[in-house]
Amino acid sequence: MEKAIKTEQMIGLIAHDNMKPIIIEWVLKHVKKLKNYRLVATGTTGKKIEEATGLRVKKYKSGPLGGDQQIGALIAEGKLDVLFFFWDPLEPMPHDPDVKALLRLCSVYNVPVACNPATAEFIIAGL
Ligand code: PGA
Repeated sequence: MEKAIKTEQMIGLIAHDNMKPIIIEWVLKHVKKLKNYRLVATGTTGKKIEEATGLRVKKYKSGPLGGDQQIGALIAEGKLDVLFFFWDPLEPMPHDPDVKALLRLCSVYNVPVACNPATAEFIIAGL
């Protein structure tokens, strides 16, 4: 039987394609801690994290198909506590407005957001 999650706190995980190996490596490093949280993700990121780590992740739509906005809605509703969002600084994205909107909502609602593994280390150490 699956162990009960120890906290109701919700963590969001999103990574653009070139950053997916990096977020997976980071999640693997912190799997013991992350398994105690409710994890949500955009579609492909969530699927890849589940496959690589065995963690259970609630998957929304793929980012370019509205997944970023669905995660944004969780922020607007006060449900998301932390976001790990490894966006790609070297590739243009068709859904760039959604990326910007998501980062904006993190600021509006004072949600901690890590956009690279270095920041992610600080945030997870504080959880
Ligand atoms: P994905 O979406 O996890 O479905 O690849 C991420 C994104 O592009 O925002």
